Amino acid sequence: MDISRRGFIKLMGAGTACLGLSGLGLDVKPALAYTTTMKTAGAKEVVSICPYCSCGCNIIMFIKDGKFISSEGDPDYPVSEGSLCAKGASFHALHMNPHRVIQPLYRAPGSSEWVEKDWDFMLGTIARRLKDVRDKDFKEKNDKGQVVNRLDTVMHVGSALMDNEECAVTVQALRAMGVYQIDHQARV
Ligand code: SF4
Repeated sequence: MDISRRGFIKLMGAGTACLGLSGLGLDVKPALAYTTTMKTAGAKEVVSICPYCSCGCNIIMFIKDGKFISSEGDPDYPVSEGSLCAKGASFHALHMNPHRVIQPLYRAPGSSEWVEKDWDFMLGTIARRLKDVRDKDFKEKNDKGQVVNRLDTVMHVGSALMDNEECAVTVQALRAMGVYQIDHQARV
């Protein structure tokens, strides 16, 4: 029988391969018993693409009762053959983790306390400060008179949870402002 690894697991879960494999002398009962206890048993599989770097590894998302319950690499994807780096492997936890910070946290200058703020406050504060710094420090030319159009006093550190498209838009916006000190943690 010509069957992929993923297809084999699904067949085992459905029990339809049981007779054929038993005929080959394989005892499939333990494997069948195991599949029925897996938390993904009966879940719908949706193949998606990891958004965190240009490798674009396939990720299988398991949906049960309308909820995203688990994820894993796709053994049928020819590039990574089911492997995921630490970011891809933690795909489900990154989205569904109850400890995930979902509200902006602000630490005022000189303070040691982080305080929850709304997005209007955060975006307005960032925009105001960035504009002030850029107005003050933007350089059109260097000491030799060469055109540089750069902002030396701002740097940007990207989040590990920025996806490819967010990174692309962010870099374009930063470059347009003259920011060139840009770093980001992509794959790990
Ligand atoms: S971040 Fe990791 S899992 Fe995601 S596409 Fe890149 S290498 Fe693959």
